[in-house]
Amino acid sequence: MRRKLAAGNWKMNGLTASLGELQSLASAHPDPLVDILVCPPATLVSAAAQCCATLPIAIGGQDCHAERAGPHTGDISAEMLKDSGACASILGHSERRENHGETSDMVRAKARAAHAAGLIAVICMGESLAQRDAANTLDIIAAQMALSIPDTSTAENLVIAYEPIWAIGTGKVPTPAQIGEVHDFIRTRLERRFGPGVGRGVRILYGGSVKPDNADTIFHVPNVDGALVGGASLRAEDFSPIIHALSEST
Ligand code: PEP
Repeated sequence: MRRKLAAGNWKMNGLTASLGELQSLASAHPDPLVDILVCPPATLVSAAAQCCATLPIAIGGQDCHAERAGPHTGDISAEMLKDSGACASILGHSERRENHGETSDMVRAKARAAHAAGLIAVICMGESLAQRDAANTLDIIAAQMALSIPDTSTAENLVIAYEPIWAIGTGKVPTPAQIGEVHDFIRTRLERRFGPGVGRGVRILYGGSVKPDNADTIFHVPNVDGALVGGASLRAEDFSPIIHALSEST
C-alpha cells in the first residue's frame, strides 16, 4: 500500500512569520493518515525543520545542485539540504526547467545527488499546452521519465509529480480521464523499468491548480497518490482541506 502524500511547494514565498502556517497545519492534523511535506524557500528550510521537529510535517527543498560542494555561488547541495533538516527536494519543476534552462539530464544528476545525500527526490514532469494539443503528452512524459529518473531510484526515495505546465497557477485542471491516462502511463513505465516492487511502490502526485474544491475529484482518480500543491499550500486554511480530502480518499 502506498501511503498518500500531500506536498506543498511554497516557491519564492514566505518569511519567518510564515512558519506559523506550519503550526496551524499541524494543529489541524495532529495525527494525519497521510504524509505531509512542505517545501519552503531555502532560507526557511532550517527554521521550518526545527519548527516541525515534533510535528507530523516533513520539510523539503525546492532544488539542489548536482555536486556535493564547490564554486557554485548561490547554489545549495543536497547534503546541505539534508544537514538543514530536509528529507526531500522537489527537482525539475517546470519553472526551473523554463527559467533556469534545466534539462532532464541535469534533473537526473540532481536526483542522483539527492539520493546520495539520503533525500527523497520529488521529480516533476509535464507537458506544455502546445504539446498536449499536438497529442504529444505521453511521448513527452516518456522522454522526461527516461532522462530525469536515475537508476538509484527506489520506492522510498522517488516521488513523481505529474504537473501539466498549462495547469500550474492558472486555475485550469485536466479532466480526471486526462490525469488518469498520464498516471497510468507513468505507473506502467515505472513497473517496466524498475520491476513490479519498485514500480508499484513509487508515489505519483498530481500537481497544477489543486484547490480545496477540486481535490476530492482528483484524489479519486486511480494511481493518484497525492498532490504537489503550489498556491493553495501557502496558507493552512487552504492546504488543510486538501489534506482532509486526501485522507478521506484513502
Ligand atoms: C506547482 O507549482 O507545483 C503547482 C502545482 O502550483 P499551483 O498549485 O499553484 O498550480
